Amino acid sequence: MSTVAPILLTPGPLTTSARTRRAMMVDWGSWDDSFNQLTARVCQQLVTIINGADSHHCVPLQGSGTFAVEAAIGTLVPRDGHVLVLINGAYGKRLAKICEVLGRRFSTYETAEDQPTTASDVERLLRANPSITHVALIHCETSTGILNPLADISMVVAHHGKGLIIDAMSSFGALPIDAQKIPFDALIAASGKCMEGAPGMGFVFAHKTSLANAAGRSHSLAMDLHDQHAYMAKTGQWRFTPPTHVVAALHEALVQYHEEGGLPGRYKRYAANCQTLLDGMARLGIRSFLPDAIQAPIIVTFHAPKDSRYQFKAFYERVKAKGFILYPGKLTEVETFRVGCIGHVSPHDMQAAVNAIGEVLKEMEVQHF
Ligand SMILES: *Cc1c(COP(=O)(O)O)cnc(C)c1O
Repeated sequence: MSTVAPILLTPGPLTTSARTRRAMMVDWGSWDDSFNQLTARVCQQLVTIINGADSHHCVPLQGSGTFAVEAAIGTLVPRDGHVLVLINGAYGKRLAKICEVLGRRFSTYETAEDQPTTASDVERLLRANPSITHVALIHCETSTGILNPLADISMVVAHHGKGLIIDAMSSFGALPIDAQKIPFDALIAASGKCMEGAPGMGFVFAHKTSLANAAGRSHSLAMDLHDQHAYMAKTGQWRFTPPTHVVAALHEALVQYHEEGGLPGRYKRYAANCQTLLDGMARLGIRSFLPDAIQAPIIVTFHAPKDSRYQFKAFYERVKAKGFILYPGKLTEVETFRVGCIGHVSPHDMQAAVNAIGEVLKEMEVQHF
């Protein structure tokens, strides 16, 4: 193993700062007051990022992001509910899969992977299907990096009096979302994405009234957000063993988030990372998959070179040897690879990654793009 850890240019887990990693060097007791205060401070700071302290509870949950999405659907959608799932990529498909496994009735509306769902699509679908109780969507669909028009869609959903469940896993903390302007039942994110914490904990911003009405609805004990919240509100403790090191790392990551200027600061750095990447790759002749207007500054999908000398695995290994971990593509139709813009990385790192990619393509004698 090399002594210098490679930079992760992936959508999570991602590169964390040394300060965040050092915060995990302490063992905490789950009954201990200081740990419980740490959890409370983390939750309070998280909900403040979306301006949601008055309207929403932040309910943390052990596990990866998908656990929190599943918990939100299982807790907030009644067993006789009907979810309209908006899909333009793999994470949208996962929402539908969750509904299927949980036995919640669902309908899907799928657009192409380079096509955002529009508010007028949702308007039409809600008019045609009055039995729908909730709409579920992905804010930034990480499988391509496409941004869906959350604010417009939320207005249509609210106008029809339906619930909204938002997977904002890869956008929360970097792209602005104001809970006082965007009405929703649940918005879900996780410790190891734009917060730049360690992976291992999800959190759901659940509307206070919706959560209060969700007692006993979950099919699952461990994934019941109503119970998780009620227990924490009463005791200050997590139900079941908390991910103590992950909470401590997230607390430290939040300190750095605020030092960076909070959301505007983080957005600015990610946008600069993304622009450096797009410009650099364009100079190498590598085309990005999405038009700029719908490209979120979170992760970029690139067309793979059309050259038989290009093989993702060999390309990946060579770029890794130069210090950067890339991400495979997730599209079925076209061959692509992805480069993340999030994590504790700077435009300088992005330029170094572009340089490494350029050198590798030369070494592999790839010529056709
Ligand atoms: C990362 C991510 C998730 C969660 O994936 P896990 O592997 O469970 O952490 C869900 N939705 C989106 C859009 C994501 O980017």
